[in-house]
This record gives sequence, C-alpha cells and structure tokens, in this order.
Amino acid sequence: MAQNPSCPVCNRGRETVVHALLECGWTRPVWFGSQLHLSASLCGVQRMDEWMTTRVYQFRMGNDSADHSLSYLAFLLWGIWKARNNKVFNSHALNPTEVIVLVQSLQGEYFKEHIAARRHPDQSLRVREQPSWKKPGAGLVKCNTDASFKAPDVRSAGSLVLRDDSGHLLSAHARLFFTRSPVVAEAIALRDAAVHTSNLGCTHVLFEADALEVIQACNGVKPCGEISNIIQDIQLLSQGFAHCRFIWTPREGNEVAHIIGDLARKKQLAPNWAWVLPRRVVEALRRDEARAG
Ligand SMILES: [Zn+2]
Repeated sequence: MAQNPSCPVCNRGRETVVHALLECGWTRPVWFGSQLHLSASLCGVQRMDEWMTTRVYQFRMGNDSADHSLSYLAFLLWGIWKARNNKVFNSHALNPTEVIVLVQSLQGEYFKEHIAARRHPDQSLRVREQPSWKKPGAGLVKCNTDASFKAPDVRSAGSLVLRDDSGHLLSAHARLFFTRSPVVAEAIALRDAAVHTSNLGCTHVLFEADALEVIQACNGVKPCGEISNIIQDIQLLSQGFAHCRFIWTPREGNEVAHIIGDLARKKQLAPNWAWVLPRRVVEALRRDEARAG
C-alpha cells in the first residue's frame, strides 16, 4: 500500500491505514449506518492504534455488551478492508449497505457459535452476554418500535414503548393498519412513534427498531424505495427534536415492542391495555429491567 501515495478508491487522501479504514469517503456511510453510529470520532484521526484504544475504552465504560461491540468493530474493519480490496483489485463496486449487512450476519453467526459454545453455568453471566435492551443515556428517552405483519393477512400493527433513562415506562401505544409489505409496516410503526413522542413533548429521543432497512433509510444510508414518503415524514418530524437518533437493535433488544405489536395485530389488547398492561408485556418489561441493571 506504500507505493502509491494517493488512495486508489477516491484519489483524494494519502493512502494510509487510517484513510483506507476510516477516512475514505465511501466508508463514512458504513460507520454511520453501522450499529456503532460513528461519525464525529472519525475526523482528525492520527493513528489507527490510538483510535482503536479509545473505542475499546469507550465500549468498556459504556455498557455491559463490550464483547458485542468489540467483535462488531472487528468485523466492520474487516468488511471495509475486504470491500476496498475487492474494489481495487477486482473492480467490484463499493456498496456500504452490502458491508453493513455482511457484518451484521457475520456478527450474528459469531455470537451464535462462540458465545453459545462457552456458555457459563451461571445463568446471570450468560444473560449479560446476550444482546438486550439498554437504557438510554442520561436525559434521553428511548422509543422502541416494531411492526407485526403476517402474510397473506394485510392487517398489521405498529407498536411503540417509551422509556426514560432509568428504564421506567413512560408510554406504550399500538395501532392497526393495512399494508401488504412488512417494510412499509415497520416504517409506519416508526413514523407513528415519531408523531407520538413529538406529541408528548419529548425533546431528546432515541428511536430503536429491529428493522435494519428502515433504520438505514432514516439515517440516509440506504435508498428508501417503497418507503421513501414515510421516511421523508420521519426525517421531517425528527427535525422537531433537539436530539434525535435512529438505532438498530437485534430483536432481543426490542422484545416489549414486539409483544405489544403481536397482541395488537391479533386483536388481543383490551381497550385499557396501556393502563393495565397485559401480563406478557409486564414480564418482558421486567426482563429488560433486570438485564439493563
Ligand atoms: Zn480514499
């Protein structure tokens, strides 16, 4: 890589490891669209090893899923490197979404194989290693959304669960609507959530969903296709918040919203369900609370 001083991908930067993995223009949507949502920390990096050390430190300080974040980071770096080489040596077009999706599936396989293989006899330790719902940072509220869809039935349900930075439930909501597309259903659920949290006067919000495509579209990483109008609505609504982010979570981190959506679609929610929560919902909330610590 040292022979040619300019980057063969963008022809702009000097071809250093930092440039290839962090600075080269095409990698930006990968970092931002990834579960790590990195953008600001990619600017002005001098040395790769220092940058990595800072990330590791942040993961360890941040939460109890540092293993998850670290392996994900490793897969991301590998994915970017592999895609770059494929472009330089095989003229394979660069596609940030492809990298994110590949990394996602590698990470999933890794956790299935390796974490399951070293299951600890102590159940509590094992639970901590699994992806789970996390409290939002101080001063933030987190809104989990999900859609329940079961073809060929066009009746779908969108659901949302709003919790504060202590993990306390602030609001829960569900709505039935009709669509033939699961992606559209997920996007409608997220738009309902943006409307709902805005109406409640929330200002600092994290929206979390397990629909990767919808989250990527909201973050501008992926073309929206059939959901473009809904995504535009969501992006417009998001401008009304002082702080707003869209985050992908594995299904395990979205269990409460999932259960509410499921019950709503099957019309199993009583009219007053948001005040007297169904047992399945209460149990899932407790599980999240226990895992979030
Ligand atoms: Zn470049």
